[in-house]
Amino acid sequence: MVTIRDIKTICTAPEGINLLVVKVETSEPGLYGLGCGTFAYRHLAVKLVVEEYLRPLLIGRDVSDINDIWQLMHQNGYWRNGPIENNAISGVDMALWDLLGQKYSAPVYRMLGGARSNIVTDITISVNPPEEMARDARTAIQRGYDCLKVKVGIDPELDVARLAAVREAVGKDVKLRIDANQAWNAKQAVRILDQMQEKGLDIEFVEQPVPAADLEGMQYVTRHASVPVLADESVFSPADALRIMQTGAADFVNIKLMKCGGITNALRIASAAEGYGVEGMIGCMLEAKISVNAAVELACAKKIITKVDLDGPVLCSEDHILGGAVFDEKNITVSDAPGMGIQGFVPGKVTHLDD
Ligand code: MG
Repeated sequence: MVTIRDIKTICTAPEGINLLVVKVETSEPGLYGLGCGTFAYRHLAVKLVVEEYLRPLLIGRDVSDINDIWQLMHQNGYWRNGPIENNAISGVDMALWDLLGQKYSAPVYRMLGGARSNIVTDITISVNPPEEMARDARTAIQRGYDCLKVKVGIDPELDVARLAAVREAVGKDVKLRIDANQAWNAKQAVRILDQMQEKGLDIEFVEQPVPAADLEGMQYVTRHASVPVLADESVFSPADALRIMQTGAADFVNIKLMKCGGITNALRIASAAEGYGVEGMIGCMLEAKISVNAAVELACAKKIITKVDLDGPVLCSEDHILGGAVFDEKNITVSDAPGMGIQGFVPGKVTHLDD
């Protein structure tokens, strides 16, 4: 039996993205797993949760008891399973899957079902004045992207003009999906989306048009708008996903490891989606390669994930992690090394934050 001997954290900031790298050490000399929790600038809070709450719970546990360990972390009575806790759980959970893969000499995506070894991501166009967004979109096309995720929602009256500018810049063959980040109300969403379609802007789908808690509003948009709807901020847990699927509140769900607490819980959302025949997107936060790599493992394992929004690493100008998936602009190839295939930091490329 291989047990957890210790859990350590390293705070790093490649290009200003604060990350909390989690290292789970085991009773087997030299065998450890790496994961990463990230929450914008609150990495120190995530670190506290890992070190003060999760570490004492997990030392001495068998690394193979991954479901029991996840339940233990999740049901800890101290918290409400908010974003910080889920980031911390996600970091530990990733490291455990990395360990499990190494223990059984298999890449994680193969252990989870192994559907494919390559996926293709979109790239995000940030919300800005229309002409600036058109310029960013042209640059993305020159880099080889054929699917853009366009952020909208700041000053909604400009959103149709934003999309019109982007569509004109990229031509008709590029896929455009939009993310409103909860900015609209339901009726406004239907009006804006219909205007976009009437102008022939050909939107693939809209992500989170209304506030996360407004499931009735999202259901209204899903029923009345001419554009399919993807739920993002409304889906943190398998229960959230099930509620959305049961009520038809959205057409797809966005799975993010940091939201739901790692691969173990993301698998449950993916299973719910498989059961309902609902497609999923895999997404990431402001993350670098070490955690996006884990999302790649999941996406490559699950065919129900038909849309990929894992542009975190290509938005970083430098790669600070050795090993793992290869991110070559839109093309992502999963690692065939055991576990997650992450080998550590590129020397000299990482700023370690003061702990
Ligand atoms: Mg989103």
